[in-house]
Amino acid sequence: MAPDDSAGAPPACGICAIIDRITSGAFADLVAELPRSWLILGDAQFYRGYCVLFAKRHITEMHLMPRGEAHELLDEMLAVGKTLERVVKPQKLNYECLGNQEPHVHWHVFPRYAEDPMRLAPVWLRSEHERKVALPDDDRRELIRALRTDLVRVLPTARFP
Ligand SMILES: [Zn+2]
Repeated sequence: MAPDDSAGAPPACGICAIIDRITSGAFADLVAELPRSWLILGDAQFYRGYCVLFAKRHITEMHLMPRGEAHELLDEMLAVGKTLERVVKPQKLNYECLGNQEPHVHWHVFPRYAEDPMRLAPVWLRSEHERKVALPDDDRRELIRALRTDLVRVLPTARFP
């Protein structure tokens, strides 16, 4: 066991730390619990509806998951894509599974809009300052509600706090 896995120490993985906050009920931007993942509203709402899907367990690569588990996670990601398409009506969705900073499988799902002058560029080329826009609280709650309402139709196993 690595030293940071000792009892009481915070998890070394930033995503496992967020999952700890989610499971203790201390994460306001949780959208849904899915069988293989947690879905949150991301912190870059310049891309309205931007969500992040975290694999429930700590694993560094999709190919290290048993095949059935990886496929179930991908099905959940596809359901999130369908929901975002219907709820926020983007021109295009960008799916990214990077993990360079946090090597815990997670998918960024970015809605892209026609009026974005940088719509042909990867989202990461926009400055963090411009990207990381928070929605007003009412709007954020309403968006989460709309995502949940749609998602449970696509994926009846979705659970909400
Ligand atoms: Zn982790």
